[in-house]
Amino acid sequence: MSDFISSQLDFIFFFYGLAFLLLGIVSLAMSKGFDLYTLVGVFGILHGSNEWLDLIALIGGDSAAFKTARTVLLVASFMVLLEAVRMDVRQRVNRCPGPWIHLVVLLPVILIWWENGGNDANAMARYCFALTGAIGVTALMLMRCRQLSGAERIWSLLIALGFALYGIAAGVIVPAASFWPATVINQAEFARVSGLPIQLIRGVLACWITFATWGFWKQQAAREVASARYTEAIKSQVRLTFGAAVAILIGGWALTEHLGTIYRENVEVEANGYFNLLSEQLAAQTAAADRVAELLAETPSVAVSLAAAAPNAMAEAALRRHVEAALAQRGYILTSAGTVLAATDRSQIGRPLDASIVRLDIPNRSRGDFVADRSPEAIAYLARFPVRSAGGEAVGSVVLQVPIRVIWPHLSELDRAAMLVDPNGVVALSNRPGLIQRKMWPALAPLGRGQAAADAGTALNGRLAHGAWVSLDGVIDYAQRKPIGGSGWSFVVMSAPLGIVASRLLGILITLLVTAVTLTYLVGRGRWAYNEIQLDRRLELEDLARTLDLRASTDALTGSYNRFKFNAELSVQIARARRYGVPLALVLYDVDRFKTINDTYGHPAGDEVLRRLSEITELRIRSTDTHARWGGEEFVILTPDSTAAMAHLLAELLRGTIEHAGFGEVGQITCSFGVTEFAKDDTEQSFLARADHALYRAKRLGRNRVEVAEPTPRQAPDIRVVGG
Ligand code: GH3
Ligand code: MG
Ligand code: MG
Repeated sequence: MSDFISSQLDFIFFFYGLAFLLLGIVSLAMSKGFDLYTLVGVFGILHGSNEWLDLIALIGGDSAAFKTARTVLLVASFMVLLEAVRMDVRQRVNRCPGPWIHLVVLLPVILIWWENGGNDANAMARYCFALTGAIGVTALMLMRCRQLSGAERIWSLLIALGFALYGIAAGVIVPAASFWPATVINQAEFARVSGLPIQLIRGVLACWITFATWGFWKQQAAREVASARYTEAIKSQVRLTFGAAVAILIGGWALTEHLGTIYRENVEVEANGYFNLLSEQLAAQTAAADRVAELLAETPSVAVSLAAAAPNAMAEAALRRHVEAALAQRGYILTSAGTVLAATDRSQIGRPLDASIVRLDIPNRSRGDFVADRSPEAIAYLARFPVRSAGGEAVGSVVLQVPIRVIWPHLSELDRAAMLVDPNGVVALSNRPGLIQRKMWPALAPLGRGQAAADAGTALNGRLAHGAWVSLDGVIDYAQRKPIGGSGWSFVVMSAPLGIVASRLLGILITLLVTAVTLTYLVGRGRWAYNEIQLDRRLELEDLARTLDLRASTDALTGSYNRFKFNAELSVQIARARRYGVPLALVLYDVDRFKTINDTYGHPAGDEVLRRLSEITELRIRSTDTHARWGGEEFVILTPDSTAAMAHLLAELLRGTIEHAGFGEVGQITCSFGVTEFAKDDTEQSFLARADHALYRAKRLGRNRVEVAEPTPRQAPDIRVVGG
């Protein structure tokens, strides 16, 4: 399980970084001016970037400088978190240490870096900044909770809890370091106990914090918009986002793993092909050399010279011929005691054949030995064959030393590192000269547990039949090993990782793309809901304004304009009459003996009369005329572009119509009218007063009649001749 999750570190780093980058964006969007959220946002961006750089180091290989740069970025991100807390506290209470506090906190980190290096500094920085910063943010969030209620409070509590747990995961469970408590409580120990890499936990917590922050932000927006529909939309958006996030994480991970597996299987199939090719080549070439050695051993002169225990010219000639035929470097005829009797290299004669010889069981062929020396040229195959006398007893042997380039001619053409590794893990033979004589395990560290290479000793020995990610000289390769027979020897082929990394990276990139598209959709959807509600609001307000306007200008009983609206219209029309010199007339009318109607038929019947009267009038007048209820049972008509005579005509017409109209149970009613025309030096008051006088005259003269009040001609100036 833990191995499996460890092999998923790339995806874990990916979503860990993504979550913090999103936290950064959300927090920056939430911040109002320079506040807690601004700095939490900067922390998110820095920390998320750091995780993605870890991802790059994981798949692209690491270097000391890159590692240092990442540690600096990590420390910087946590410093920003602590600064966020410091700033917020300073805004609340005046007494708070200044920015110099960071230098004080940084001091132990720098000292331990100086003393013990980057790894210990990383652990110390986590204690000093990550733990304190996260605990600080937790405390601040809890304090904010007290001023909040409902869903906002719950989201805020979730943020606080997320930061508290993150403080533990990132600030307590630190990389193993040489000082207490990092010696005891550390990532390796956590992985051992739980079977999970801490990065997975941190990544999940990062998602948690981001989601809670985002939920809090949305809830705040819902409160500000204060619309039940928007709150509902937000709720559904939160549910949808949570579902989408879980689906994308699981789907993206499954896709990444699937793509990686497809590639891994291809690599395995391909590597198997290489193994077979290599062993077949080896078998064929050694068999050829063995056959030549056999022919040499059967040459009679060789047996004769061995029987005589003295070299003869014929045997030496045969030796040279066979050495040439086998493309060998050297050839030997050995006595049964192993002493060189004859050799192409005469200096060896009389000495035992020195053989730092290793025995290699090649499948199908297992008679030869390999000589391993320190240079690839010196690696050779020793083809041996016993020499028997005519009587059949062994009298010695022949040995042909064939250089490896003859035995294994295509090895150097391989596009990847291939090696022949002895049972102790030492490379005897490789197409990469630098690998020869190197001890491969535990030098080849399997990846997956961060930099924990120490327990990698068994990696190639144990799991390598199925392949493992290994780091060799800082370069990451996919290594596969195949044992050769039961010899303890093995072939190892290293495949450049680009293919599998590209495969998994494709999965990660697709996940990133889907995340981006989904987020765009979700943000767009939220925006759309917001705009819809704003639009509805605007329409509602416009409606309200219209209603208010109508109410302000309309008489509730009759639906005619009221006095307020009439006065406004009167001002406009007077101004117009003055400006253009056009005539303007006013008709004021009042129901005759209305009190009696009320008394006889009741007030509601009276109301009905007023409504009907208003209707009748409004059917009669021009659309440019303004009809309004002046008050009680008295109405007024303002008729622009009309002279007194024209208004008189209108009033007569109306009077007649009313007189003959039916008013329900009330039957017939009459009205009295006062008419006047606007005079140049009239005021609104004098204009109205004159119409009122005319109406009064109509009442006095018997009602149901129209009276016109002519404007009083302007008094001629009183000119007197003074003096004589
Ligand atoms: P005149 O011919 O001199 O105008 O006699 P009148 O009875 O019509 O005049 P008066 O001013 O004495 O009475 C007006 C009455 O109109 C008094 C009041 O109760 C009634 N009135 C005023 N406003 C309303 C209203 O909105 N509805 C009803 N039903 N009656 C109203
Ligand atoms: Mg009246
Ligand atoms: Mg009246």
